[in-house]
Amino acid sequence: MDRTEALSKSYTILGAGRSGAGIAVYLKRHGAKVFLSESLPKEKLLFLDEGILQKEGIEYEVGGHTDRVYENEIIIKSPGIPLEAEVLKRASKSGMRILGEVEIASLFCDAPIVAITGTNGKTTTTVLTGEIFKNAGINTKVCGNVGLAFSEILDDIDDKSVVVLETSSFQLESTDTFKPKVSIIINITPDHIDWHGSFENYLTSKLKINKNQDNKDIVAINYDDETLRKLLPDYKGRVCIFSLKGREVMTKAAAGAYLEDGKIFYFDNEKGIDELIIDSKDIFIKGKHNIYNSFGAIIASKSLGLKNKVIVETLKSFKGVEHRIEPVRTINEVVYYNDSKATNFDSTYVALESFSSGIVLIMGGKKGDNNFNKVKEYINKRVLKIFAIGQSKEAISDFFSGSNEVEKCETLQEAVEKANKFSKPGNVVLFSPAYKSFDMFDNYEHRGVEFKKFVNLL
Ligand code: ADP
Repeated sequence: MDRTEALSKSYTILGAGRSGAGIAVYLKRHGAKVFLSESLPKEKLLFLDEGILQKEGIEYEVGGHTDRVYENEIIIKSPGIPLEAEVLKRASKSGMRILGEVEIASLFCDAPIVAITGTNGKTTTTVLTGEIFKNAGINTKVCGNVGLAFSEILDDIDDKSVVVLETSSFQLESTDTFKPKVSIIINITPDHIDWHGSFENYLTSKLKINKNQDNKDIVAINYDDETLRKLLPDYKGRVCIFSLKGREVMTKAAAGAYLEDGKIFYFDNEKGIDELIIDSKDIFIKGKHNIYNSFGAIIASKSLGLKNKVIVETLKSFKGVEHRIEPVRTINEVVYYNDSKATNFDSTYVALESFSSGIVLIMGGKKGDNNFNKVKEYINKRVLKIFAIGQSKEAISDFFSGSNEVEKCETLQEAVEKANKFSKPGNVVLFSPAYKSFDMFDNYEHRGVEFKKFVNLL
């Protein structure tokens, strides 16, 4: 579908979140026929701005889908609606095409797209990559699954701009012709399997990032990730790899980035480049996982011709994204870190991996999978004491009491105050919950903000 054809169609947009409202406004402004339908009642819609919809003359309904949904040619579905939902089954039966906002927005994007996906590290890599391009003086828009929706930035870009787009598997699932200039796949581990039905389906959704790329495009994958490595013969476009395993693996691809003796190098087989970019200890954001995130950002920026200087300066200064191992304050030589985004054990694992010892850990949250074996070794060896909160505090205490000192706390503030009294100079107080936040907070952002507030009250 080209732009003219796309604007001649009629659309039903399902879901009045940022991306739904964003694409409705964009299409309507450019002459397409749109109707917006939302199943939730008004009170539950955090982002709904009726003023804008009315100003733009967009017809909409909330609190349920009526038959009007089926009167158009194309459905643009919110990434939150599963393909098996009744409304989509019926739309499909009536011959409507079902696409996502990323697919439609990309039809109208003149700028090269750097698309970033992965199970973990998407937001960090996306924001870091965006910072590098911004610091290089390029009109850069960071959007997608983070901050603004893709459709919200379309009127502010041209072919000299760069779009850095975070894409989740849910967004990629509903693409068809989406073709980024550079795609980065940071890692892939089983996640959201209940949604996608199987690991294969989840992987297939993620790989749609690369489906339409050609030899002028670049795909960069994590060579140390077994699933991604095995697919090496199948990627389309110019394949770049990144690895902690050193120079020797670089023969497996056209170009890439690697770590050797603690230093990060960029390598291009065809151009005969093998150059030092930065010593990993000079990267501000710590942890092995952030070396992978930095690899992604380096390959994206090198692929689009940026100079090493701006890449290095940004890696040295970028402080990370809020709520992801975020340094909050230092009191009596104890650094407090907010890692509220750690809503599962994989995330808490990488946080523990980032500090070699002396950790005072605050963890716990909404009851969930008690995947303690994943973090047991690090907790036993590196954690001085656990302050457990939330619905999962009993389970944490039952599991670790034999091997670690554990104290249950009724509130996050109590945990912060007790961690403050317990810690000694040189320690870190790490708030990395490993569970979701909904037992005591609205979401992980709210939880992180509360943590920082209590730390700042100390
Ligand atoms: P996403 O957007 O994919 O959720 P984020 O950048 O928001 O990723 O990071 C979420 C959490 O995942 C962080 O708190 C961190 O613990 C962990 N993480 C970040 N980058 C990586 C990575 N490359 N590999 C594994 N875990 C990571």
